[in-house]
Amino acid sequence: MSHVHVIDHPLVQHKLTLMRKKEASTSSFRRLLNELAALMAYEVTRDMPLHEVEIETPLETMKGRMIDGKKLVFVSILRAGTGILDGMLDVVPGARVGHIGLYRDPGTLQAVEYYFKMPQDMGARDVVVVDPMLATGNSAIAAIDRIKALRPRSVKFVCLLTCPEGVQALQAAHPDVPVYTAAIDRQLDAHGYILPGLGDAGDRIFGTR
Ligand code: URA
Repeated sequence: MSHVHVIDHPLVQHKLTLMRKKEASTSSFRRLLNELAALMAYEVTRDMPLHEVEIETPLETMKGRMIDGKKLVFVSILRAGTGILDGMLDVVPGARVGHIGLYRDPGTLQAVEYYFKMPQDMGARDVVVVDPMLATGNSAIAAIDRIKALRPRSVKFVCLLTCPEGVQALQAAHPDVPVYTAAIDRQLDAHGYILPGLGDAGDRIFGTR
């Protein structure tokens, strides 16, 4: 079984609480998600490999350490993943980006794919899949199935919120994929929504409700 990392940093928890409030406006929801995603990027990139480079400070030459952002791919599950992606790219601007379009069939709650576009050379890359809500787990599992077929070096999953059902489903299907989240909520409802949750993340990011 892989790890579930609950990021309990006070800044993350504070922003998440503000986002959950039903009266949060579209603009503040989007801004908070952006800020939160940047903070979560710190956690998910914690073990990224570094290499030494020789640089010159104004005083002398030294060896500094740098990451190779090009090795990292953020894969956004459309459409709500876009909200996390922007904040992560603020912190790792050199990362490549893949998109996978999945919608949830309202009857079966199964993920249906309508778009898939990844960078070249996925076999040499570390992948971070992003989607604000890990609810039934169906979209995350379908996305990771498709990504793993390209044999990346590693896969991680980042969400804002999840629930026990979502974590169990994803871990059963992909036990090697660690999950990073700001909270594990109480439960899933009959319509596949997380309780207490924050509602429909896509609608709240894009103001489409
Ligand atoms: N997707 C959402 O946007 N919200 C949920 O609560 C569950 C899935």
